Amino acid sequence: MAERNKIFFFYKREDTILEKIEELKFLASQEGFEVVENEKEANIIASVGGDGSFLQAVRKTGFREDCLYVGVSVFDLGFYCDFHIDDRAGMIEAMKNEQIEVRKYPALSVTIDGQGSFYCLNECSLRSSIIRTLEIDVFIDEFYFETFRGDGMIISTPTGSTAYNKSVNGAVVDPMLACYQISELASLNNNQYRTLGSSFILSDKRKMTLKIKHDNSHYPIIGMDNEAMSIKHCEKLSFELTEKRIKTVKLKDNSFWHKVKRSFL
Ligand code: NAP
Ligand code: MN
Repeated sequence: MAERNKIFFFYKREDTILEKIEELKFLASQEGFEVVENEKEANIIASVGGDGSFLQAVRKTGFREDCLYVGVSVFDLGFYCDFHIDDRAGMIEAMKNEQIEVRKYPALSVTIDGQGSFYCLNECSLRSSIIRTLEIDVFIDEFYFETFRGDGMIISTPTGSTAYNKSVNGAVVDPMLACYQISELASLNNNQYRTLGSSFILSDKRKMTLKIKHDNSHYPIIGMDNEAMSIKHCEKLSFELTEKRIKTVKLKDNSFWHKVKRSFL
């Protein structure tokens, strides 16, 4: 991968890992990489931290498709981090290897009120901002499916399926499947209100629309991965799995299922 040689390091400035970052930068330049200070010039973006930092790195750099994202963890290896900060030799080796395989993660697109579109790598979450429940009409394509009443909903990608989605009993989904999953947060189910009650998975050929029923000041908190949206008033959210793919390195013996076993079993 000779043409990929401009690397940008994404990390929290206040971190106690600054010394290690300097060592990483030095090593990278010794190995023929150009360490750039402007992320726009980079074709490799290395996030240093955890999965949360990786999500931020992808978001803050605009979900670039012309970049290879590399997750470097400081503590335990997570889902987006394939390297540990102390395994520098392994990192350089993988980056220099011409035979390196690229893993592609699908991103979810969220369109709010038919206008702005946003991307999510883990999930989009909707939660009631007050103690009262949210009421949401759910449409699959143009078909009215159900009316949800409860705390909120989580719409997750396959790679996001091991995060928030898993905490509410959603299924863990192989990222080789182009799909997205909808999970409920405490739905009311009684003689008046009825939802499916279980998570469901939609194909990338389908679009899902949520219409939020409003009463005055009651609005949901909308989360895109680890960032809360500042939009307060929104009525309609449409979801689709995009063609957009986030590229990252694929190492031997480190498939998604290796990661699932390592993290949970
Ligand atoms: P956080 O609240 O600091 O961390 C949540 C935990 O989820 C961290 O251990 C994080 O790993 C891990 N994580 C992130 N993405 C993951 C993935 N795809 N698969 C498995 N674990 C994952 O927030 P954060 O670190 O900024 O991460 C944001 C994510 O937290 C959100 O996208 C959401 O999925 C999740 N979240 C979960 C809950 C819940 O389970 N009740 C509630 C809110 C948000 P690192 O320590 O390596 O960062
Ligand atoms: Mn975190």
